[in-house]
Amino acid sequence: MIDHDVIIVGGGLAGSRAALEIARTNPRLSVAIVAKTHPIRSHSVAAQGGMAATLKNVDEADSWEAHAFDTVKGSDYLADQDAVAILTQEAADVVIDLEHMGVLFSRLPDGRIAQRAFGGHSHNRTCYAADKTGHAILHELLCNLMKYGVTVYEEWYVMRLILEDGQAKGVVLYRLLDGQIEVVRAKAVMFATGGYGRVYNTTSNDYASTGDGLAMTAMAGLPLEDMEFVQFHPTGLYPVGVLISEAVRGEGAYLINSNGDRFMATYAPSRMELAPRDITSRAITYEIRAGRGVKPDGSAGGVFVYLDLRHMGKEKIMSRVPFCWEEAHRLVGVDAVHQPMPVRPTVHYSMGGIPVNTNGQVRSGTDELVEGFFAAGETACVSVHGANRLGSNSLLECVVYGRRTGAAIAHYVTHRKLPTLNADRYVNDAQEQLQSLLDQPGDYRIHQIRQAYQDCMTEHCGVFRTEAVMQDGLTQLRHLQKKYAQIRVDDKGKIWNTELIEAMELRSLFVVGEMILTSALNRKESRGSHCREDYKQRDDTTFLKHTLAYYSAAGIDLDYMPVVINQFEPQERKY
Ligand SMILES: Cc1cc2nc3c(=O)[nH]c(=O)nc-3n(C[C@H](O)[C@H](O)[C@H](O)COP(=O)(O)OP(=O)(O)OC[C@H]3O[C@@H](n4cnc5c(N)ncnc54)[C@H](O)[C@@H]3O)c2cc1C
Repeated sequence: MIDHDVIIVGGGLAGSRAALEIARTNPRLSVAIVAKTHPIRSHSVAAQGGMAATLKNVDEADSWEAHAFDTVKGSDYLADQDAVAILTQEAADVVIDLEHMGVLFSRLPDGRIAQRAFGGHSHNRTCYAADKTGHAILHELLCNLMKYGVTVYEEWYVMRLILEDGQAKGVVLYRLLDGQIEVVRAKAVMFATGGYGRVYNTTSNDYASTGDGLAMTAMAGLPLEDMEFVQFHPTGLYPVGVLISEAVRGEGAYLINSNGDRFMATYAPSRMELAPRDITSRAITYEIRAGRGVKPDGSAGGVFVYLDLRHMGKEKIMSRVPFCWEEAHRLVGVDAVHQPMPVRPTVHYSMGGIPVNTNGQVRSGTDELVEGFFAAGETACVSVHGANRLGSNSLLECVVYGRRTGAAIAHYVTHRKLPTLNADRYVNDAQEQLQSLLDQPGDYRIHQIRQAYQDCMTEHCGVFRTEAVMQDGLTQLRHLQKKYAQIRVDDKGKIWNTELIEAMELRSLFVVGEMILTSALNRKESRGSHCREDYKQRDDTTFLKHTLAYYSAAGIDLDYMPVVINQFEPQERKY
């Protein structure tokens, strides 16, 4: 058994910002990060467009209140407004702190940090490093972690959260290199395990975004909040699904249908291409359904629309969004200086997650907290995004709530002893679990079941939803779950057994998918990204509340939790 004061699962922006805060607050604490990828390969590194903060470098009329209002309106009034106030008030400070750490933000001619427009934001407030913002920030954070001597277990897969008597006591680790199993015991465990884009067949997320932290939390008997809210980003490059950043529209690109019209004029006349993502993704889907999508030969009736940058000119494209140009060129052979890019919605972000309070401590229900357990970043739900996240608010959330959670943990562990636990029991359980996967005489390869599962989720819980379609999805999902017991793992070895990891990740996907579908079925209204064709209106009387879903092998139980509304009364959401 290995002991640390704090073990953080996840080396993305949220996990590394928290680790840094703990190390800065109390250098005597032993802090470790564990990640199944190398930390630099966490999905945060792929973040493109930027991070919102009211620095007022470009727009002096901006204020944190305006940022808070945009965020709450963008969330379709489901965000908790106390959490949003913290997010927006602390934003400028965390950006300046990153800049002092060495993050190379793009500049205005006078040397101050530049800020661009983003969807749903009423002012130009998104700070960026060209269209490689996540890359710039994560590299700098990790350099700082080395400076402070934080231990990093890279390429170790966390299999289980150890939760006993309502207390988190540690985690069970599996080392990819040689199959070694270890128990880490800690005074505080933090999950910063990112999103679950791989639940769907078309996503902007990396291969590691399989929702493991969510699944481990759910399997430990703790609730997950607002899992029905899945963000579809409007501009996934067709057919691969990788992201073309919203920054491209922030810098002036148009969305065009097969008639050559800027169709956003019909759906969000005041914001056009810079409407929030839920509205823009629905608009694209409507256009495609109405036969105004484009086919690869440019004729009508296809399954994508165009993102047109040509009027922006080569110099602006190459200086502001060079990575997006490169992606389209490399992946689908489109030169965006001269040709429009083919795009359609792609699964992008998880608004829901592990419920936490504004110090990052995990909730076990409406009123209670779990001792020793914290979470932040995309895997957590604090909830600042409610039913729909605004672009450039997620990096901000990772850094603001990563820092806050780190500070809270540093304080928390000073009053806590290392818990007692029987490590052998957990090692034996893990060994048995893996051995039974290896021994099972299966008929199916992992990828067959995963593909069928991803297709099922995509078809039954997408941009538009209905009761009948989701019920059917749930039935199919349960059928596929049974086949999980019949998968065959060909690699029986201990060295770098990625097949075994994929088998464990598939289990996570199943748990997360069932939570999404069940939560979505029970929300009989349309709000933000959750759009029900059988319940088209938002219903504040019945559903202005957060879903809490509890997993068990027998089925999922649902409960609800009030929304914190202390500043902005819900209104009709128009753009
Ligand atoms: C292509 C793309 C572009 C984006 N652009 C922007 C943007 O411009 N602005 C913005 O605000 N947001 C953006 N987002 C969203 C934002 O990047 C993410 O929400 C955020 O970076 C998530 O950070 P995180 O620290 O929560 O998790 P991640 O960065 O996803 O890190 C998760 C970590 O957990 C580890 N992990 C997971 N499971 C396990 C396990 N079982 N065992 C061990 N380790 C595990 C992983 O190895 C990884 O280190 C973008 C997202 C994508 C996909």
